[in-house]
Formats: sequence, structure tokens, C-alpha cells
Amino acid sequence: MHQSTFLFFYKEGFPISEEKIEYMIAKQLRARGIQDESVLDAFRKVPRDKFVRPEDDNYAYSDSPLPIGHGQTISQPFIVALMTEALELQGSEKVMEIGTGSGYQTAILAELARQVYSVEKVPELAETAEKKLKKMGYDNVFIKVGDGTKGWEEKSPYDAIIVTAASPQIPPSLWEQLAPEGRMVIPVGDRFFQTLLQLKKTDQGKMVKNSLGDCRFVPLLGEEGWDF
Ligand code: SAH
Repeated sequence: MHQSTFLFFYKEGFPISEEKIEYMIAKQLRARGIQDESVLDAFRKVPRDKFVRPEDDNYAYSDSPLPIGHGQTISQPFIVALMTEALELQGSEKVMEIGTGSGYQTAILAELARQVYSVEKVPELAETAEKKLKKMGYDNVFIKVGDGTKGWEEKSPYDAIIVTAASPQIPPSLWEQLAPEGRMVIPVGDRFFQTLLQLKKTDQGKMVKNSLGDCRFVPLLGEEGWDF
């Protein structure tokens, strides 16, 4: 019986998900060092429960990734926040995301940037995310089905690039499509463990690398990622 949990989160005048979101922001994000108020605000605006499977509704604000079908997952809220914060968005940027998945990270980015171009290799996931985001009113999101390791060249350069699947290397095409003074966040490592990297491109085109810690993502499968 889940009624006690239900009552725990309920306070008169507030929808239950708002309470859960505030709890998530305090315990999972702020307590672990996420400080950018605009990022925390974006988490207030995007209901994660709309991006998980209906059967996982009770876990929508839990401190973990969740399955979204096709062997893929919606990332843990903290990881979404950490990656987003590392993109250092001011609101005017053109962002590229590789691995749309559920579309949750896409929506967070859409709250913080001018335009989001997102590439997903699984057509069904791309289609579901696109419909959902459109219905929620995001008109600054553009989704394409394809191999995201090659980026989305026609729309480049990007002020920020986020890769939400694990790569054995920094895909050269993505680095090329990053604008001078741009930021990229990408998990790089083997199939099981990766380091989350923040890369900055100087105005001279040089790479400055900063490690954000260890992480574990589903593999980035494609020409400049894993080939199986
Ligand atoms: N940000 C998403 C994470 C989804 S998991 C979310 O929080 O919901 C990673 C996604 O990357 C999966 O949907 C997977 O299908 C996708 N992916 C893997 N390799 C890819 C590639 N080469 N190009 C585009 N998407 C890819």
C-alpha cells in the first residue's frame, strides 16, 4: 500500500509532483554541489514524471536512471544537472544533444538555451520524444534520427554539445562542429566505466579538458563511437 508515501509528499495547495521536485532539487542536486540557479529552476519547470514509463510513475523523482525501452535509460537527475551545469548556458546558445532518449534532458536544455538540436539513433524513441516535447510547447527543439557520432553538420557550429551515451573517444566530427569558445560534455571510457569530461574549445581552437568524475552510461553506437 503506497498511501503513506503519497501523504508524505502531499501538502495542501501544491500538486504532488511539485513537492517531489523540490525534494529532488534539495537532496539530489543542491546537496551534491549543483549551484547554478538557472539550472535548478529548469528542473522545477520540467516534470520528469512525463518522461518515464507509466509503470515507473512512483519512481519518477528517485535518485536513479530508469529504463525507457529499447535497452536505453533516462539518466539520473544528478547526472543531467551536472552535465547541464557544465555547459555554462546563458540563454542565447545553439546546443546539440546526442542521444535524445526520453527527451527529458532535451527539455531541460530547451529551458536554458535558444535552440536545441538533438540526434537519436532509435527512431521510436526520437518520435516519442518529439511528440511529447511538441505537446509540452517546446518550439525550440529539433530532433533528427541518425548516427549522432557524426553530429548534425548542416546546423553547426554549436555553442555547446552534450553527449548522453558513453564513447570510447571524443568523436572528431563533434569536436569539429563545436564553435570556438564552446563547451562539450561527454562520458569517455570503456563499455562499463567512463569519466565525464567537460571540454572547452579556446578561441584558437585548442582543447581544455576538465574531469567531472566517474559515471556509467549506455554505449554510444556509431561510426565514431562503439561499433557493436
Ligand atoms: N538524455 C537521455 C539519455 C538516453 S540514454 C535521457 O535522459 O533520456 C542514451 C541515448 O543515446 C539512447 O536513447 C540511445 O539510443 C542513444 N544513442 C546511442 N548511440 C547513439 C548514436 N550514435 N547517435 C544518436 N543516439 C545514440
